[in-house]
Amino acid sequence: MPTTDDSRDPTPLRVSVDLNLCQAYAQCCYAAPRHFRLIGREALFYDPAPSADARADMERARISCPVQAIRVEDPDV
Ligand code: SF4
Repeated sequence: MPTTDDSRDPTPLRVSVDLNLCQAYAQCCYAAPRHFRLIGREALFYDPAPSADARADMERARISCPVQAIRVEDPDV
């Protein structure tokens, strides 16, 4: 039986990474390790729809990216 996580905010943030800009510096992984992970030297995995209470982590990741590849949007704005 599939499970759902009802604790997540119903209106998650929208997060995207421009993988053409990303240079795998991994600063986002240090800034928000629960949401960004680098596998090997090139494969970046990230949560594209974290709950709104992850905003501080996602903003820290966005600001830490040296090539400004991370975009964080609030779907309500
Ligand atoms: S900090 Fe920026 S450049 Fe580095 S892995 Fe994350 S998104 Fe890519």
